[in-house]
Amino acid sequence: MTYVVTEACIKCKYMDCVEVCPVDCFYEGDNMLVINPDECIDCGVCEPECPAEAILPDTEDGLAKWLEVNAKYAEVWPNITEKGEPPADADDFKDVENKFEKFFSPEPPKSA
Ligand code: SF4
Ligand code: SF4
Repeated sequence: MTYVVTEACIKCKYMDCVEVCPVDCFYEGDNMLVINPDECIDCGVCEPECPAEAILPDTEDGLAKWLEVNAKYAEVWPNITEKGEPPADADDFKDVENKFEKFFSPEPPKSA
């Protein structure tokens, strides 16, 4: 198994998770992060750190799509190990639904 970052991260991107991961397996996109399933050691440390509750174990139902998104974009987005500045409007998007359809960006971070 692995942990995966899910929809709640999109446009929130608080990045509290990256600081605690012992194997630095988070990767940064324009408006969300993903976990590399091949590198994650399933320690679970990141899960309670996420203010948006976006990180889930892939043993939960309905996460096949998110496992795919995490695996795919961990290959193309840059690694992130230090917390950056979250978007100024992150809190406005915390409980918004269907963020993948509305806002998902396949682009790497603009600063990269
Ligand atoms: S802490 Fe949660 S919302 Fe923030 S970047 Fe990590 S997974 Fe995304
Ligand atoms: S479960 Fe552990 S190894 Fe996997 S992403 Fe979270 S902190 Fe990193």
